[in-house]
Amino acid sequence: PIDVGYKSKMSASSPYSIGSHTIKTWGRKDVDNKVLGVWGEFVSVDFDICIGDGACIDACPVDVYEWFDTPGNAGSNRKPIMAREPDCIFCLACEAVCPPKAIKIFEQ
Ligand code: SF4
Repeated sequence: PIDVGYKSKMSASSPYSIGSHTIKTWGRKDVDNKVLGVWGEFVSVDFDICIGDGACIDACPVDVYEWFDTPGNAGSNRKPIMAREPDCIFCLACEAVCPPKAIKIFEQ
């Protein structure tokens, strides 16, 4: 599962902008997607253990996630990027359905 202490244990890394939202990342190394780290400040996904099955995309009632190609990553070649992270209503549905427990929602 995701290590919920990632913000103190991993280094802040380069953010990723998508649409009008800029996603914060921790532990990301920009080399062939091999080490993606954890993305998202309060809708947080450990992209190195995410298997990319898309259960979170289907579960989210407000369409926070969309597919994002990550060829070369050991966990999966595509990820649910939290493109609309500010829309999250903290229902925790995505956390509950994630097979590897790669998601942590920090309620605001
Ligand atoms: Fe969507 Fe609910 Fe997960 Fe927020 S907690 S991203 S609203 S499924």
